[in-house]
Amino acid sequence: MKAVVHYSEISLKGKNKQYFVDRLITNIKEKLPFLEHIHKKENRLFLSFSDDKKEIVQKTLGKIFGISWFAFLTEVTNYEELKKRILSELSKSREFEKATSFRVLTRRSYKQFEKNSLEISSEIAYEIKNKFNKKIDLKNADFTIYVWVLKDLFYFFFEKHRGLDGLPVGSVGKVLCLFSGGIDSPVAAYLLMKRGCRVDFLHFYAIDDLDYVKNSKIFEQIKLLNHYQKHSKLYLVPYKFFNQRSLLVPERYDMVLFRRFILKFGEKLAEKEGYGALVTGDNLGQVASQTLENLNSAVRGLNILLFQPLIGFNKQEIIGLSKQIGLFEASIKEYKDCCSIISKKPATKTTPKLISSFAEKINLDEVIQQSFDNIQVFKF
Ligand code: ATP
Ligand code: MG
Repeated sequence: MKAVVHYSEISLKGKNKQYFVDRLITNIKEKLPFLEHIHKKENRLFLSFSDDKKEIVQKTLGKIFGISWFAFLTEVTNYEELKKRILSELSKSREFEKATSFRVLTRRSYKQFEKNSLEISSEIAYEIKNKFNKKIDLKNADFTIYVWVLKDLFYFFFEKHRGLDGLPVGSVGKVLCLFSGGIDSPVAAYLLMKRGCRVDFLHFYAIDDLDYVKNSKIFEQIKLLNHYQKHSKLYLVPYKFFNQRSLLVPERYDMVLFRRFILKFGEKLAEKEGYGALVTGDNLGQVASQTLENLNSAVRGLNILLFQPLIGFNKQEIIGLSKQIGLFEASIKEYKDCCSIISKKPATKTTPKLISSFAEKINLDEVIQQSFDNIQVFKF
């Protein structure tokens, strides 16, 4: 069986196009190792695989960034057979049965074919109309039959499956997501994958028991997110070193100081491992730690690009996206995170200067180094 894959945004990428397409091909091959064949032709990809793999191909292509739409093709070698096969496939189609109107759209890549596109479309349409007694409607058809003419070869299909669009993961670079296990940071990670980044994860755990973390939703969420990329790394870092020192600071400031700590830590790790940016699930004004002042205090002194892709979203929009990408159920599972230890009533109006003075007081660089020496890496 064959499928055709269309990439939309990539086709706008000018000179770099081949690079993006190659990456898309690699990503598809990695996710569908059983493909018999994959090749590029006329700004499309053609995939061949055995019939019993159709369902898994459909599911998988629906989760690969860089694809605008795809379709499963029926292939025939002559024009008479094309008409016959279309009629017989239509009589099996439930969607077509429900439709009151239809249209035939023909593309002719082989221009020497004896009939032009319009002639082919109308000829097929009239045969369909005669057999099924449905209305032809070029503008608002309920059902479309797509026909494609090549040299000594015809394809047709009835359904276009929507892809996720975006850019192929890995084509833009790799970034490090500060991952809390809540609803927001997984969605933020997803949005960066959509823009072509491979995303690895950095998590600070509060309960000093690795088995607890390994069996928690953190691992589950990362596995789910990996449906959209091939593999990723998770850096697990104990929170306890920061926690001990933070006792030196008034409780209502420890949240913002914690945010300063994890960002500076992320910067150090990113420098060592070559990440192009940090990503957080921050959202302006959502919780007390996310006032304009507190976000400002947290990021002061950061020497790396920081993405906060959810900054302008409403909570309901984030929840909607989380459900859509299949992360919500896992994200609301019980888990004892750092926020369950940190002050529930953080100061809402801090200044970068004040937080810097606390950072100095607890010797933040030393805390970072100590925590850094205790990183554990997991590969997914
Ligand atoms: P989320 O739903 O992602 O937990 P949130 O709305 O609960 O976000 P916070 O808990 O204040 O907000 O966290 C804001 C961001 O800080 C998170 O999205 C995440 O990027 C980062 N973060 C918070 N806690 C941790 C942690 N324990 N480890 C790594 N990153 C964290
Ligand atoms: Mg949270």
